[in-house]
Amino acid sequence: MKKITYDNVETLRKALTERLGKAPRGTLYYIRSGSRQFWFTWFFKSHRLAVSVTRLKTRRFSVPRDLVAEALVARLREESWTCPRCGKSFRRIGRKKFCSTTCGTAWRVARLRYSRKMALLRAKRAAAEDAELARPETQAEMRRVDTDRRRDDLRRKAIVLSRT
Ligand SMILES: [Zn+2]
Repeated sequence: MKKITYDNVETLRKALTERLGKAPRGTLYYIRSGSRQFWFTWFFKSHRLAVSVTRLKTRRFSVPRDLVAEALVARLREESWTCPRCGKSFRRIGRKKFCSTTCGTAWRVARLRYSRKMALLRAKRAAAEDAELARPETQAEMRRVDTDRRRDDLRRKAIVLSRT
């Protein structure tokens, strides 16, 4: 991707939107500032610019701070939040997570239903395991393995003793 020039937040935003909007899905564009790196991407579904911030691991890569980019990142982070259930983007107020109470309730119900299902599955698996252990064939096999192990242990000990 070609280098972009910008002198304020709006031009940077416009340039990024234009380039990423036309680029294939999954294209990222990064700008470094200080020891941080901002990854810009385009959300095709919700038609918006999104950003994620990573910290550069070594100081070797750090560059002078880019205040324009930082301002854009601050703005994007403030305005870009998507509802985890329906993916609708909305402006977040406080710690509000869902776009509406309908979404919030549906999400909680789904989560509860899922955890109950998993608990049931776990119980079923445990019961199956218990049944398997209780079978006489399994018991016999376990006794055989146990005996084998004990015999091996004795042999190992015998070798050690003969060495000394
Ligand atoms: Zn929602």
